[in-house]
Amino acid sequence: MKKLQLAIIGSGPAGLTAGIYTSRARIETTLFAGLEIGGQLMYTSGIENFPGVCEGKTGPLFMMDLQKQAMRFGTTIQYEQITAVDFTKKPFALWTNLPPLMDQKTFQSAGEDELLQAMQTIRQTEANYVADVLIIATGASSITLNVPGEKEYFGRGVSTCAVCDAAFYQDKNVYVIGGGDSAMEDSIALTKFAKQVTIIHRGDAFRASKIMQERVLANPKVKVMWNSNLKEISGDSKIVKTIKVETDGKLQELPTDGVFLAIGHQPNTGLFRQQLNLDRKGYIELKPHEIYSTMTSVAGVFAAGDVTDHRYRQAIVAAGLGAQAALDVEHYLLNLS
Ligand code: NDP
Repeated sequence: MKKLQLAIIGSGPAGLTAGIYTSRARIETTLFAGLEIGGQLMYTSGIENFPGVCEGKTGPLFMMDLQKQAMRFGTTIQYEQITAVDFTKKPFALWTNLPPLMDQKTFQSAGEDELLQAMQTIRQTEANYVADVLIIATGASSITLNVPGEKEYFGRGVSTCAVCDAAFYQDKNVYVIGGGDSAMEDSIALTKFAKQVTIIHRGDAFRASKIMQERVLANPKVKVMWNSNLKEISGDSKIVKTIKVETDGKLQELPTDGVFLAIGHQPNTGLFRQQLNLDRKGYIELKPHEIYSTMTSVAGVFAAGDVTDHRYRQAIVAAGLGAQAALDVEHYLLNLS
């Protein structure tokens, strides 16, 4: 078991910004990068709205720079995933290996009793790390529709990341689901390769920012199916071939080469069920505290970024919250000593 002063869980803008600040404050900082290193910005082509990044850097490049910056000041990046936590006593215990009966799905979907039992079993295994203080910055992940064929064809014509996969759709005919900024961004990314991009939106107006809507609607390769819902995805043994779409109660079957889901995100908080107070949508609730605005329901456990924020969900906001959490940790540790 390794003893840490501060563990940061998550390597998106919130986690890495926190790391830059805490390392510069000479707090011994270990950041667990997890499986999705760099968070959601790794799926973004050009960053245009982060102040100071005026040349439109790619998301992966931006995240690599943030990582280098955190390491330069002494943050240790651990390329491991935290698979269980115990916040019931201090120092806080963290596991990177679970007994075989446990997996991530258990934390997401288990009932309350099942979860209690699972934690009892986990506590019998020695934790891999213990930490005095924690910052949780595990972010959020794409939501899927759960329509027939979606899981079956995932990675074979179904994607949640146009920016990653657009280049595979040269001269193809693709559909994007959603009406927010992600759907607009995905559509724009796809028009660079695809012959035709059709947005399927359940409403009669987009909620995306006006500038993104204008770009999309002005693009001759883009069509929109308003008041429409994707009902089914079908194909052959290898790849997607058709989709069924319902528009105003009428079902039609359409040929396609690809389906891109861009219908929002859910917080990555399965690990923290029964450990921290979560809100109705599963985001970490921050305890209104006189001094520490980023402290969770457990003293010494702080949270920042999209895992706490279902409203703004911007890289700049996540980075700002990461800085706030780092300053809170610094103050908290000073008060402890
Ligand atoms: P949003 O929650 O903003 O939009 C989700 C879209 O998907 C909505 O249009 C919603 O429809 C639709 N939707 C949700 N559930 C379903 C469903 N079950 N069936 C059909 N449609 C559904 O998510 P985004 O990921 O687009 O954006 C999240 C945040 O990230 C926003 O704040 C956005 O501004 C930001 N962002 C910024 C970018 C940039 O600036 N470059 C790029 C991408 C995101 P309805 O409108 O009817 O609710």
